Amino acid sequence: MAGLGCVLEKPHTLPPEEATKRLGVNPATGLSSEEAKRRLESCGPNVLEAGRRRGFLEVFLEQFKNLFVLMLLAATAFSFYVGETVDAVLILAIVLFMAVLGAVQEYRAERILEALKKLASPKARVLRDGKIVLVDASEVVPGDIIIVMEGDRVPADARLIEAKDLYVDESTLTGESIPVHKRADVVLPEDTIVSDQVNMLFSSTYVVRGTGKAVVTATGRNTYIGRIARMVAETRAEKTPFQVELDRLAKRIAAIVVVIAALSFIIGYVFQEAGLVDLMLTSIALAVAAVPEGLPAITVIVFSIAAWNMARRNALVRRLAAVEALGSASVVATDKTGTLTVNEMTVRQFHTADGKVYTVTGEGYRLEGGVFENEKQVTAEDSPLLRLAGLVSVLNNNASLEDGKIHGDPMEAALLVFAHKLGMDPANVRKTYRRLREIAFSSERKRMTVIVEGPEGLLVLSKGAPEIIIDRSTGYMTSNGEERPLTEAEKAKLLSQVENIAGRGFRVLALAYRRGEKQDLEASDDEVESRLTLLGMVAIIDPPRPEVPEAVRRALEAGIKVVMVTGDHPSTAKAIAEMIGLPRGRVVTGQELEKMSDEELKRIAGEVAVFARVTPEHKARIVRVYKELGHIVAVTGDGVNDAPALKLADIGVAMGQRGTEVAKEAADMILLDDNFATIVAAVEEGRRSFDNVKRTVLYLLSANLAEVATVFYATIKGIGTIFNAAMLLWINIVTDGFPAAGLAFEEAEPDVMKRPPRRRDQPILGKPQFTYLLLLSAIETLLTIGFYHLYAAEMSPDHGRAAGFLALMYAELAQSMALRRLNKPISLRMIPSNRQWLTGYAVGAILAALSVTVLAELFRVSSLGIADILAIFLASHAAVLGFEEARKRLGLHV
Ligand code: ATP
Repeated sequence: MAGLGCVLEKPHTLPPEEATKRLGVNPATGLSSEEAKRRLESCGPNVLEAGRRRGFLEVFLEQFKNLFVLMLLAATAFSFYVGETVDAVLILAIVLFMAVLGAVQEYRAERILEALKKLASPKARVLRDGKIVLVDASEVVPGDIIIVMEGDRVPADARLIEAKDLYVDESTLTGESIPVHKRADVVLPEDTIVSDQVNMLFSSTYVVRGTGKAVVTATGRNTYIGRIARMVAETRAEKTPFQVELDRLAKRIAAIVVVIAALSFIIGYVFQEAGLVDLMLTSIALAVAAVPEGLPAITVIVFSIAAWNMARRNALVRRLAAVEALGSASVVATDKTGTLTVNEMTVRQFHTADGKVYTVTGEGYRLEGGVFENEKQVTAEDSPLLRLAGLVSVLNNNASLEDGKIHGDPMEAALLVFAHKLGMDPANVRKTYRRLREIAFSSERKRMTVIVEGPEGLLVLSKGAPEIIIDRSTGYMTSNGEERPLTEAEKAKLLSQVENIAGRGFRVLALAYRRGEKQDLEASDDEVESRLTLLGMVAIIDPPRPEVPEAVRRALEAGIKVVMVTGDHPSTAKAIAEMIGLPRGRVVTGQELEKMSDEELKRIAGEVAVFARVTPEHKARIVRVYKELGHIVAVTGDGVNDAPALKLADIGVAMGQRGTEVAKEAADMILLDDNFATIVAAVEEGRRSFDNVKRTVLYLLSANLAEVATVFYATIKGIGTIFNAAMLLWINIVTDGFPAAGLAFEEAEPDVMKRPPRRRDQPILGKPQFTYLLLLSAIETLLTIGFYHLYAAEMSPDHGRAAGFLALMYAELAQSMALRRLNKPISLRMIPSNRQWLTGYAVGAILAALSVTVLAELFRVSSLGIADILAIFLASHAAVLGFEEARKRLGLHV
């Protein structure tokens, strides 16, 4: 920054002009992109904690932070010292190789997570080269002009230049949860405390209402929050429930393995007078090979692969635990507008209060088309009613339309198009009428009102949910422009008319007006929005997304309950629910919800298909109730007020396009395309990764068990060592290293979306899985011991050890093949579909063969002939695959 620092000190004491001057920026055009780039280089990225990145070497060295590995290295050094050079070098080489393998996997998973984090990083709206652009918040620099609006997270500290009705939640900073009203037009004394600096915006706070324009005075660590460095703790990596479960399991197994290894050592030493160094090495190697300390890391690897796949399918996961939760989601509570529907709104009809219907032609946001009364085109000039309806459409509206591209709320954009078709020019109308007051829309209020001043004086113009506008109206206007009082009977009739229109899937919005008076400008919101004259109702279509019915069908087939949670009218919601194929069920309105106790709600929760006319507060309650019923709940949201529901849910899903930064920050997953179908795809990916964790865990554990059992058997039988240290470690690479990593990539089983969701309390390893582990490791142990004895008796003990060695490796490889389908028979056709596995399997099979031929001497076994190798290969595969296929056919599921 030419002569400027990276921080503007005490900006709250300066008028905005002075602040921008000192920061060297023109507030009308912002910085140029070159200047921004320069400042980014000199002041650094706008981040609080430049998340330390572990290099490969560091990850590699971490692999040695394991007591058993260190013991093994020490014992190896000792055996080197006593002259067992070959063994020592071999063990060292294998250990190094294992560490490389482990580090590569871990490093890859870390890079994936890092890339994902970048994708999900918060965005900021800045003025650059005279244009408003969206950039990564990390690229905001001092002097940038930022624009903030409702739902935004303030990207940096900034001095306000403009503020319109701006309220900011600064609780992250001050702990005070009442939003602060911000103003640009004040200059404050130097000693004003942060919470009173109303002309400033602070990084990491949230805009809850209004809009503002400000010049950035400090970024990154120089911001107020950066200085108190509060957020550091937030980047902590948390463990998923699976990881915790596997952690516990790994510890238990480790204890068992250590006891057995120690026993083998003692028994071997006392009763068999075997070589001390050999025994020690073998026992420690057994601990290294069979203690599954890497078990929890498997979830990280599998889940980061899943997260990557999800990102490619437009679902950005923010926490790994969400992948896991998605796999067991049993309720998806989804918004309607934009998620189930395309969010392209078109006004199709205008209904007057006295029952006349105008049809509107044309599609989408294109301006072609018109308004017709029985084939005859009409315009705003033709009737005072249509003119007023057009005025409400244009003036009670914050959207804009440029060459068919909309800015702002799609429904408001549809109203602009409607006004066009009535022959009005919105730009002109907005020039003629000056807006004096706006009572903003919110999901709770379900209405919006403006007061404008025009040729006919002050006008109060309202639009909103029909039942609310009708309730607030005391009169209505007939199609020929007469104003009449609205009786209760007529209100009831109108409501059933609304019901009727909504029942065909239209969104219905009521328009109303009244002549305003001076005091309306000061009166309470409630007073302004009363004594209205109803002008009529527009019927708007927003068709379902074409891919949604199929996604709904798949979700239902997967045993997932889909409930629509919408702010829209119950009849509209119900009609859309039918169009997308939701099963018929109860439609519960927000009003009914209010009257229901949690118990009542729980009783009917299973039958509800639609919650309509609900507020974000209701949404949080719905999530809580389903959770209390034992469901794993995914919920979608976009607004500031959706944050509590998103946080409460097991999987909070924020909309990537429509969603506010607040919602995204509260969510576990961001839908880049706002599409319901993407949630279903993510569920599928979650289920697939759950299966892959299970496969890998079952595989590794049964292999480890078989190794332990064999060593223990050899000890108590007094055979001495069937497996020495090098062999045990080798088995670990050949079988656990390559094919196991391949299992983590296995594609989704054909029936993943045809089975019910996993229950929340179901452990990864329950009784069926333990039985499986015992049986499989028994088969593998028997094969090993059997071949050992066979060859030891017929040829020599060294041949026996080679045969047992090979049999165990081939049995494990066969098991990795069988586990590619957990509970369904495998077929030859599927073999090439998982290249990682296939490579792992092939490499493993070749390495195994090499270890009893060219490498036999290294392992101190006799070498075997091709025919023996083939025989052992076939026998091991036949035994394991035979057992597995029988188990699957008998329906003994894991
Ligand atoms: P969903 O919850 O599925 O997104 P929704 O858009 O209808 O549906 P909300 O945004 O909470 O939900 O809106 C609730 C109701 O408020 C709408 O059905 C409509 O009647 C009314 N409404 C929506 N937007 C506006 C607006 N800009 N001005 C006035 N009224 C509005």
